[in-house]
Amino acid sequence: MKVSQPTSRTPKLNHTHAHYLMAIHTISEEQGYVRSVDLAKHCKKTKGAVSMAIKTLTQKNLVIKDPNKHLKLTERGKRITTQYLGAKMALYHFFTKVLKVPPHVASKDACSIEHHLSPQTVDELVRFCKLS
Ligand SMILES: [Zn+2]
Repeated sequence: MKVSQPTSRTPKLNHTHAHYLMAIHTISEEQGYVRSVDLAKHCKKTKGAVSMAIKTLTQKNLVIKDPNKHLKLTERGKRITTQYLGAKMALYHFFTKVLKVPPHVASKDACSIEHHLSPQTVDELVRFCKLS
């Protein structure tokens, strides 16, 4: 499979892959580095499942392994992860504050669509939520 060009559109990732990217971001904020074992623990997945996902994310040029085998988001990976996190936050805010949906339902529903929104919708949603 060819590695996509950096200028290409947002790659289609499945939900699990999206969660791995967000987990790498979160763990890295918390402890400064991310090992596969941290990711497995955080996502409650086996090491085998994690290494397969990492392989895919690496091929898509979203994640790289540094010489210490620590996982890092590439610039492209960071951009996509920021978009997912923004979408998740804005959706959660919209569901709880505007629609008055209970938090546990809101977070479940935000989670199920966070990675399906286009950047434009995320931007507008974030803008809307700041105004409301
Ligand atoms: Zn999710």
